[in-house]
Amino acid sequence: MESVGIQLKPRVAIVGGGCAGLAAAAELAESGLPVTLYEASRQLGGRARGLNWKGCRLDNGQHILLGAYDETLRMLVSAGVHLENALQRLPLRLIQQGQFELRASKRLPAPLHILSGLLRSHGLSVQERISALQFMARLRLSGFRIAEDEPLDRFLARHRQPRSLIQWLWEPLCLAALNTPMSIASTRVFLNVLRDSFSRSRADSDLLLPRTDLSTLLAEPLAERARKAGSSILLNSAVTAITHNHQGFCVRCGEESAAFSHVILATSAFRAGDLIRDIPLLTDTVSVLDGLDYQPIYTVYLQYPGNPALPFPMIGMTGGLVQWAIDRGSLDGQQGLISVVISASGPHQDLTQQALAEQVAKELHNAFPQLAEPLWHKVIAEKRATFSCRPGMLRPEQTTALKGFYLAGDYTAGEYPATIEGAVRSGVKCARLLLENP
Ligand SMILES: Cc1cc2nc3c(=O)[nH]c(=O)nc-3n(C[C@H](O)[C@H](O)[C@H](O)COP(=O)(O)OP(=O)(O)OC[C@H]3O[C@@H](n4cnc5c(N)ncnc54)[C@H](O)[C@@H]3O)c2cc1C
Repeated sequence: MESVGIQLKPRVAIVGGGCAGLAAAAELAESGLPVTLYEASRQLGGRARGLNWKGCRLDNGQHILLGAYDETLRMLVSAGVHLENALQRLPLRLIQQGQFELRASKRLPAPLHILSGLLRSHGLSVQERISALQFMARLRLSGFRIAEDEPLDRFLARHRQPRSLIQWLWEPLCLAALNTPMSIASTRVFLNVLRDSFSRSRADSDLLLPRTDLSTLLAEPLAERARKAGSSILLNSAVTAITHNHQGFCVRCGEESAAFSHVILATSAFRAGDLIRDIPLLTDTVSVLDGLDYQPIYTVYLQYPGNPALPFPMIGMTGGLVQWAIDRGSLDGQQGLISVVISASGPHQDLTQQALAEQVAKELHNAFPQLAEPLWHKVIAEKRATFSCRPGMLRPEQTTALKGFYLAGDYTAGEYPATIEGAVRSGVKCARLLLENP
């Protein structure tokens, strides 16, 4: 008699309901595979989540997406999100208030749209524009690749980038994309972002500004997609231990334990280390996680009376604490609400929240006199917003030494810095690896 092999359906646990865990769950749902997703907090979304404050809908941090976020956009579409309604798409326009403006051409193909924008930019001398164009041309010729990674400030100095260009273009882009000061930022990762957003297609450099809070934009649609495939999404469910034996994995949550054939660990890096510290096969992974360090992001919300709109929904500022001011009113209809982003470590961390908000309000008022006295402010400090994206840094792979055990998260190996897109890509990759090796 012929023996018949019985292939059991994988029983999958996902630990963590941020962008990475939810992307993994939604991707598995596309293949009809339900999961059990454990989320420690009472809401999904992790570092990209909405919150209520004084009748307003805010986020734990102002987020900006790019047209180059392929996987995130694909995932949102397959979860039923209407992109035109959910995101305000703005052809690239970088404004450093009163000093510099780069507006990408709306007609030319990439990368000419950026090159012509640089050529016509305001605030740079002819020599500085030529220097920027030569630099972009060299990057393109090299395929945006470098032999050895090095800090971005050193790389820019070697390529003789003028001080004004660094101050108004490269440094703000580095802080926005890598959330890491240029003196310790990875040139390789920075160039990956430039390559994808500046040189592939014109739409890739578009700024995509959420028109809803982040939970409505991302977490809820992805969770709903997973639920439709029969997944259980468990909130207030912190996993306290993960053990394994020859049959699979045991996931402990409160007083209960459940058995799974596969686990995707999708917490942030610093939580992941604690959950796998006692698993002997994962000691190498733990030491990579322990080697990461983190950078903060501060978001300051200010509510002004009336509707004192900014001239453009997103405006950069240099020379003070404010890096970007975003006009939430023009995006989601919450009139007079401005969010200010301050990325990476800096002197703002020494201020009390009250002093920081006052300083921010002062800088805004100086740049935009219509922003007089805010009615209220709210400072949200995410102390470990992202890992420091350092040159040549080690990032753990999604597969581990333990068969059936995967790591998802913005910190895992990939071309992108800690971003929504990096997190989503890692989750999708885990889901596909799992489906290929059931
Ligand atoms: C203020 C701020 C601004 C940012 N701005 C941008 C931006 O403009 N553009 C951009 O692309 N990216 C931005 N990012 C980065 C982006 O938010 C993150 O890269 C992304 O959200 C990370 O997703 P993740 O799933 O990897 O991790 P997380 O979002 O950290 O998700 C991990 C989840 O695991 C849960 N968890 C932890 N421990 C356990 C446990 N024991 N059991 C169960 N669940 C657990 C957590 O509660 C959390 O929900 C920003 C981040 C911050 C903080």
